[in-house]
Amino acid sequence: MLRSTPPQPALPTFVPVVVIGAGYAGLSAALALHDHGVPVLVLEGADRVGGRIWSQRTPAGVLIDHGGQWVGPTQHKLLALAGRFDCATFPTWDAGEHLEAWQDGTVRRYRGDGPDDAPGAAEYHEAMARIDAMAKEVDLSDPGSGPTAGDRDSETVHSYFRRTVACPAARVRLDLAVQGVLAMEPREVSVLHLAFYVASAGGFAQLMETRGAAQDARFTGGAQAPARAIAEHLGDSVHLGVPVTAVEQRSDLVEVRTGAGVVRARHVVVATPPPATAAIRFLPALPAARARWIQRSVMGDVAKVHVVYPRPFWRAAGLSGVASVYDESTFGVVFDNSPPNADRGVLVAFSYGDRLRRWSALGPGERRADVLRTLARLFGPAAREPIDYLEKIWPEDPWARGGYAANPAPGSWLAHGRTGWREPCGRIHWAGAETASRWNGYMDGAISSGERAAGEILLALAERASRSG
Ligand SMILES: Cc1cc2nc3c(=O)[nH]c(=O)nc-3n(C[C@H](O)[C@H](O)[C@H](O)COP(=O)(O)OP(=O)(O)OC[C@H]3O[C@@H](n4cnc5c(N)ncnc54)[C@H](O)[C@@H]3O)c2cc1C
Repeated sequence: MLRSTPPQPALPTFVPVVVIGAGYAGLSAALALHDHGVPVLVLEGADRVGGRIWSQRTPAGVLIDHGGQWVGPTQHKLLALAGRFDCATFPTWDAGEHLEAWQDGTVRRYRGDGPDDAPGAAEYHEAMARIDAMAKEVDLSDPGSGPTAGDRDSETVHSYFRRTVACPAARVRLDLAVQGVLAMEPREVSVLHLAFYVASAGGFAQLMETRGAAQDARFTGGAQAPARAIAEHLGDSVHLGVPVTAVEQRSDLVEVRTGAGVVRARHVVVATPPPATAAIRFLPALPAARARWIQRSVMGDVAKVHVVYPRPFWRAAGLSGVASVYDESTFGVVFDNSPPNADRGVLVAFSYGDRLRRWSALGPGERRADVLRTLARLFGPAAREPIDYLEKIWPEDPWARGGYAANPAPGSWLAHGRTGWREPCGRIHWAGAETASRWNGYMDGAISSGERAAGEILLALAERASRSG
């Protein structure tokens, strides 16, 4: 049985390992330790598990994912977890013609990964190939190392594109691609971080494409289903509604403080997003490199808007529901997020970066009118008549404070990355999608980070046992 508030369950006074945060990172760390017979306690501040993954039924009964939703074929950790807990997936719908709304107001239909004859398309692909080549030079275990890392971490993606891509239309395409994959503006991240992110996914196309790539499939029971299954498996070890306020390291123990009491542990896994980690008080203070890394890791700005219709009416018109929007509209990308049996039609629109900052400042009625106006421009007047309309503005989420993930500010890999990124601080071990080498920023990365942190602890416990035995 999962424990939830109220009433507050009593916390144990001692457990070998405390995990802070029940997103995929924390749950995977706990699962790996549990599998090895190590008693573990998961403390989650929110009233649900999953963190940046939240599956919910709309009033019309359609299961949607407010946060992460897709899984790709090279995301082996997530697929293995889904397989272990019998969580089925189904292919993302992408049959039909895609749409591209260009800056001059034209809307073009195309098939495949982009309209080849569109403005800037050829130069865009050339620039992507150059980023892929840069990505091959990144050491995934130490991205700030290597002879070119210094220059690349000192230049923003914005200035790099202005310096190396002559065609303005190609730059417009590249800007939307970066906004789409990082939920940040190109001026906010360094070229090195972009190259690392691309390398971590296995290439730019892996981040961008649907079939065979990151957007390949969705979970039949929602992307939260494996997280819920792990929590059920861990049972009473998972406590919800217990935010951790402070972590104090003593000589042989760590004290974890919460409003519901203090728990002592041999090791602690902190599996919270960087802004949430910054809100925890660490005693003694964290080493400067780790503290700076946390402070300089900036969450992206993203919102997902789900618009539900009686049927996926665009399919009858030969459209896939996929649209890229290059003008000043609220959202940059739209996908068909209908359920597998298509008994309802669902469009999901992503807003990020500057677009989100403008749109989220509007009132709720204006926001809705704005979204429906653009959807109608793309898919026709039927788009104005939804049966459900749901928004999730992630910068307003009290726990995640943004999404998809945090990305280090330019210069941070060089200055603080080597030890600040994820090196344990004594008995404190760091997990979270942001600390992953593979699929950094994704569910898959969160899982591997949790497993890595569990591995660090298993090693330390084995060494302790051999010393005392
Ligand atoms: C809109 C959106 C779309 C995305 N799309 C995809 C996608 O399609 N595919 C994909 O793979 N990834 C996607 N992602 C990214 C993915 O969701 C994240 O990378 C991943 O879920 C992060 O997992 P995590 O465990 O590292 O962190 P989180 O999921 O953020 O978990 C951290 C947990 O810590 C808890 N917490 C915070 N502070 C405290 C505290 N003081 N005490 C106790 N608990 C605390 C939080 O409540 C949370 O449950 C998306 C994200 C967003 C926001």
